[in-house]
Amino acid sequence: MTSRAATDAGRVRQRNLAAVLQLVHHSRGVTRADLTRALGLNRSTIGDLVAALAEAHWVDEVDDAPREGVGRPSPRVVPRSDRLVAAINPELDAVDVALVALGGRVVARQRVVIDSPTVDQGVSIAARVVGELASEHPSSRVVAAAAAIPGLVRTDDGVVRFAPHLGWREEAFAEPLARALGVPAFAANDAQLGCRAELAFGAGLGARTMVYLNGGASGIGGGIVMSGQLVEGRDGHAGEFGHLSVDPLGPVCACGAHGCLEAVVSRAHLMATLGLEHPDDAELEAALSAADSSATDPIVATQFAALRVALRTIATMVNPELIVLGGYLATLWAAASTDDRRTVLAEALPAIAAGVRVEPAALGSSRLLIGAGELAWAHVVGDPLAG
Ligand SMILES: [Zn+2]
Repeated sequence: MTSRAATDAGRVRQRNLAAVLQLVHHSRGVTRADLTRALGLNRSTIGDLVAALAEAHWVDEVDDAPREGVGRPSPRVVPRSDRLVAAINPELDAVDVALVALGGRVVARQRVVIDSPTVDQGVSIAARVVGELASEHPSSRVVAAAAAIPGLVRTDDGVVRFAPHLGWREEAFAEPLARALGVPAFAANDAQLGCRAELAFGAGLGARTMVYLNGGASGIGGGIVMSGQLVEGRDGHAGEFGHLSVDPLGPVCACGAHGCLEAVVSRAHLMATLGLEHPDDAELEAALSAADSSATDPIVATQFAALRVALRTIATMVNPELIVLGGYLATLWAAASTDDRRTVLAEALPAIAAGVRVEPAALGSSRLLIGAGELAWAHVVGDPLAG
């Protein structure tokens, strides 16, 4: 073989290894027969690729699959957790840190309560907690990291352009995180990562056209999926639904404009009414359902009406099959009446509204961390035998 042919063959093999590992990762376990079908490769090539990935401790083969017709059962290829990625989500009231295994499985997690962390605080909390969590998993090693940031992030280099609620502007996050952890690190908008997680493992499984809206402690963001792929926009800022105008005469938003969705649909407003300081979404939802409804119903009604305006606009723009609501928006959805939920798109064009499913996120409070994990894994899975 010439050296050029050898290089080409090496590239093809790397691509095939990555494709197999990606399928094992997203399926959380797949038979060799399914791999053969999905990748259009022959059985012996799949056998060779799976053996290489098993040798490198990426996957195991287990014989728990049901028999398919006659012949030998096809062994199932499942992900191992020798390698982990670190996921970080700095927010207005806390820094969440997790270790995520292949298959989007959160193996360890810690929430550090802190008001308005700076970048330095976010990175040093991440470094300390990742160290603590990793020490509880001595047979695994952390190979990459990613942060889900509530703001505009330039995905090329992980620089936070503007996170209005945290007060971060033009600050590098991925680079100091990589230095602190000693592994490659990345950063992206939190809601886009939530969208990625719900698409890969949650309510959006198998969706081709989907919109995701995320309600976090510091506002609302989102993600758009077209043809099964996340739409990033020119600089990675597509889907900033929190700044859709729902009321031109409405309250001033953190961005300076009037009547943005997130200025009206305010988690902080409901928290203050309920007398809560640092609730997670489950605590907020429990407090809301236990509260005196005469105080909370008008707030829920006003916020749901604003959400209705935003969803009509989004549905009109995207023509989605599915709209997924995460975090605080899932709480608001649960608090609304059945009738409100049923008629949420009643004012959209009937041809667009017909058949759109609106569903709460399926991954609960792990969705942003699993999404950050997806970003980190994407950079590792592409070249499985690299290190
Ligand atoms: Zn705004």
